[in-house]
Amino acid sequence: MERLARLWWWLVFFMVGCAVPVDEAEEEGENLGVAMQALSTFDCHSHQETGYEAGQPFPITVVTIDGELVERNTANAYYFMAKQAAAAGVQIRIVSGFRSNAEQQYLYNCYINCNCNNCNLAAQPGYSNHQSGEALDLNTSASGVYNWLAAHADEHGFERTVSSEPWHWEYRGPKPVGGPCGTLEAELVKVTSNAPEDPSGEADFVVCPGDPFEFRVEMRNVGTARWADLEADAKYVGERVRLMPKGVETDALTGAKKASVLLNLNKNVLPASWGGGAGEACNDHGGCRRTVFTKDGLAGTAPSEPGIYKSSWRLRDYSPHWSEFKAFGPTVDVAFRVDDCPGASETPGTPGEDGDPVAEQDDPSVAPEPSAAEGEGCALGGSGDPRLVALVALLWLVRRRLRSAR
Ligand SMILES: [Zn+2]
Repeated sequence: MERLARLWWWLVFFMVGCAVPVDEAEEEGENLGVAMQALSTFDCHSHQETGYEAGQPFPITVVTIDGELVERNTANAYYFMAKQAAAAGVQIRIVSGFRSNAEQQYLYNCYINCNCNNCNLAAQPGYSNHQSGEALDLNTSASGVYNWLAAHADEHGFERTVSSEPWHWEYRGPKPVGGPCGTLEAELVKVTSNAPEDPSGEADFVVCPGDPFEFRVEMRNVGTARWADLEADAKYVGERVRLMPKGVETDALTGAKKASVLLNLNKNVLPASWGGGAGEACNDHGGCRRTVFTKDGLAGTAPSEPGIYKSSWRLRDYSPHWSEFKAFGPTVDVAFRVDDCPGASETPGTPGEDGDPVAEQDDPSVAPEPSAAEGEGCALGGSGDPRLVALVALLWLVRRRLRSAR
């Protein structure tokens, strides 16, 4: 009876699993927000608080480290610093991170009245860098922590800024290493192709049946995690980014299963949101905030039947942070119109790939019947095309037989 029940549940599970639409399944990994580490507990579920800078309120995004609220970019930078310290046997902990206006008011009153918090110096409410999200008070009284910070904090973008407070460190960036709480967001810049644009507007580009073509997808990083593909070494959000065919395993137009950031000219795409000039407005070397999938293009061969052919893509991160992967950014749809290309041999803008003097197809005595060759006109371009060689041989044989029959 119990086995029967289990079987029934498996059946339900199977049916439900099959019913999940592709798009929903793609988003499945996005709910995983908690990164457990030996040194600290990171909860990457973020929410908005009211931060203050120079007395002015602004919305600030915070995550939780060891129970303390920390601004997200500061948290990402702190993560790498604390990991490096832990590798050297030093356990850094956050004593105080982001503060609300009420918390700062309390500490300021303690300072003014000298009746709590050891009369420690505290900025006026609205003017503390704990409210702007940059400042962290660290456990500098613990063994080795201060000396390690004094020697290494600047490598991670942190500076000691209050001479009377050895525990007070501020993240001044930029060290865009993309910690576990970075966000993945993308914008499509453009899709380009070696094929001409479709003048009819029905599709993006137009190709002749059987012609090789390629296209490239340029994307901009508008999140806070960098994009890379470190393959087996990937650990953090954004470290295994690929452009994937959407909803199918293999893209029908190109036969591609994926296009890794590794294939691009820029293999290390920095987010524009990191401060201090990180993330240049370019796309062709490490450190730019854009990249082109891929530098050699996603290549395909046009189908032989005229019509509109579509290719659909989306970015995914396969870093181990997600249970499976996270899909992000816009869906990129690329449409090619395969034209029947009448008179394709005279088509301008289809430059010959080589200058071989194999020009038999131009000889009027062996010109094929237009109707017979219409469908493949564009394909018979290259001198090495075996179909062209076969056709020429066949026509030559037919003509010989006709002549000998006279
Ligand atoms: Zn402080």
